[in-house]
Order: sequence, then structure tokens, then C-alpha cells
Amino acid sequence: MANWMEMEHRYYMQVSRRQPIVIVRGQGTRVWDEAGKEYLDFTAGWAVNSLGHCHPALVQAVQEQAGTLIQTSNQFYSIPQLKLAQLLVENSCLDRAFFANSGAEANEGAVKLARKYGRTHRNGAYQVITALNSFHGRTMSMVAATGQPRYQEQWHPLTPGFVNVPYDDINAIKQATNVETCAVMLEPVQGEGGVNVPSPRYLKQVREWCDEQNLVMILDEVQTGIGRLGTLFGYQQFGVEPDAITLAKGLGGGVPIGALLAKEKFCLLAPGDHGSTFGGNALTCAAAFATVDYVIRNDISAHVRAMGQRLQKGLNALKSRHQIITQVRGMGLLLAFELGGDISPQVVSLCNENGLLLNPLRPNALRLMPPLTITPQEVDLGLERLERALSQLTAS
Ligand SMILES: *Cc1c(COP(=O)(O)O)cnc(C)c1O
Repeated sequence: MANWMEMEHRYYMQVSRRQPIVIVRGQGTRVWDEAGKEYLDFTAGWAVNSLGHCHPALVQAVQEQAGTLIQTSNQFYSIPQLKLAQLLVENSCLDRAFFANSGAEANEGAVKLARKYGRTHRNGAYQVITALNSFHGRTMSMVAATGQPRYQEQWHPLTPGFVNVPYDDINAIKQATNVETCAVMLEPVQGEGGVNVPSPRYLKQVREWCDEQNLVMILDEVQTGIGRLGTLFGYQQFGVEPDAITLAKGLGGGVPIGALLAKEKFCLLAPGDHGSTFGGNALTCAAAFATVDYVIRNDISAHVRAMGQRLQKGLNALKSRHQIITQVRGMGLLLAFELGGDISPQVVSLCNENGLLLNPLRPNALRLMPPLTITPQEVDLGLERLERALSQLTAS
């Protein structure tokens, strides 16, 4: 057997902090490593494998499309692209779709759309207000949008036109708004920045302010979209209709695709303004159609609400038995728990040993984002494995 970890060290750019596990196969909520050891995957490719690993509906759609047509450029009409656009538009408050290849790229499109709106309807305004502890991606402009110094420090000069303000604080947005402001871009629940759930009023207040000031309200639903919070889109949890949203992670069920959806009034991008070679190709759109269609048809969102409650309840029970857990938070199947010390790495490796994959969110916090299709038995088994890991932690 090749030594894959040595190969990674030798040939791959050393940008990822990887756990010492080579995953070779997945089925549902489970994955297996080279040695055949089984794990419950509560990371789901970073909230990507919405239907679990290798779901038959997704596998079949990819296989069929791969044998029919993989890529045409946007010089021509593409049926899977149009079917996916229709499905997303008809099940959301938005009117049109554009497809990209990742979350960051979808967000880049959203900012272009906002600047075009500012240029057309707000005297050339171009500034976008985003939140501290947000995460919008790794491109140069999204680094500026992402309100976390650790992602920005090394890349100055940052793209101008982004202002980062405290999250869940409407007054901060009001104070940052000026004649140059064209949009506010927020996550409905902050994912990578800590699994931060805002107060129930926050997005409504943002909506009112954007209406009052003629600003584009963009929600980055790259992580929260497609059922993750227990509704098809995260905005539905907060009783607001955004002007534009972006999607990616869970959209393709594991196949890379991003989307920008917007209300008609904001769809001002014209031929030549924006585009993509791969964006909206037949293969990824067929995969995303199969994923979203499955989520809608089987009311997976309701399942997420039930499984999310079960998991959160279980985590709170663990908290009552293990002092090391100091807080449990999140919504739907986007959850996190905080530890009373910077011991995430130890907890993650003990979980690995016990057959549970978790995401180290912070030195003192872990994130859980299992497949949306996780079963009650798998929730309980995951909690059992987590508890075993926590007990070993106290024992050692
Ligand atoms: C992951 C993420 C992104 C970036 O997506 P990529 O596909 O990695 O470019 C953007 N926004 C949010 C909210 C995310 O969680």
C-alpha cells in the first residue's frame, strides 16, 4: 500500500491541517479508511454531502449525465442547467439563477450584481457591508469580505469596498452605511466563523434597513442553504425575503457547484458583465438537480429539524455529564459545542479513534454537520462514540 500521508507531504502544497485518515469509500453517513476502519462522518465534506456519501439518486444522476453530455459552454442552451434554475427559482423567493463552481465564486457574482445595482440606482455606490466572524471564501475579494483578521492579515492590500461590522448588531450596520454603500452581505447563521445564530429579529431589521436605504440584501447561504438549518433555505427560518442569495456546499451533494439567485429587480448583469467556462455545466447541474429534487420531494428539511433536535438534545445531555463541554449551539444540523480549554485537537483524535469524524472549528470548539439524511440510530451512535471519547479524555 502506498504511503499516502508521505505523498501528501512530498507533493501537495502544505495548506491543510489534515487528520491522519485516508478515506477511501463512503456510504450514507459512514466512511471507511484504507485499513477498513469505519467512521460516522459528522463533517460531510464540510456540510457538502447533503444526501450522505454515494446516495443512489446522486450516483445515478451523475452516471447518466456523464454518459450523455458533460460540458457545453454557455454559448449554447443546456437542459440540466435550465431544469436546476427552474427548480431553485420555483422553490425560493428569488427570480433568476446563475451557476458558478464554488461558494467564493458565487459570492463574487453577488458583489458584482450589488455594484451594478449601486452604479445604476444609487449614484455609483459600491461598498458592501459584511460581518465580523463571517466567512465568504478565499478569493482576494472574498478575503476582504470575510471579517476575520486571520484570513486577511497576509494579503494586503485588500480589495477596497468592504466594511466588516459586528454581527447581530443592526446599529453597527446603520452606522457603517453611507452614500457609498450598495449592499449588506450576511450569513443567516455564521458557519465557519463559529456557528453563531443571530437573534430572531436581526435579519428582519436588516431587511427594513435595506428597504429604507435602497441597499441590496445578500444572504450568503453557501453553508445554510439546501436544508441544513431545517428549511430549504436559511432565510425561511427568519421570516425575511433577501434580494439575492448564494449557494454552494450542499447544493451539489458533493459535486462542486455554486449558485447566485436574485430577485428580478436586481438582475442587472448583462451579456459580457459576468460569466464562467464551467459554471452551469451539464454534469454538475444534473447532480445538483438530483440533490435538491430529493431534498424537496422527501421533505428532508423536516427530517433535519427532527435530527437536529435529537442531536442538540444529546449534546446537552453530554454537557450535563461532562463539565468539559461548556456550551452547545446551532440550528438544524449545523451545530457546535464549546470546550472549557483549547483541547479540540485531543478531542478530535479521540473521536477518530472511536469512529466519529468531527470538524475542529476553533482551538476550543467543534462543529457537527452530518449528512441531512442521517438516521436517528446514527445520531445516537455518534453521541455514544463522542461520549466514549470524552470519558477517555478525563481518564488520560
Ligand atoms: C464555505 C463557504 C464559502 C466558500 O465556499 P467555497 O466553495 O470554499 O469557495 C462561502 N461562504 C460560506 C458561508 C461558506 O461556508
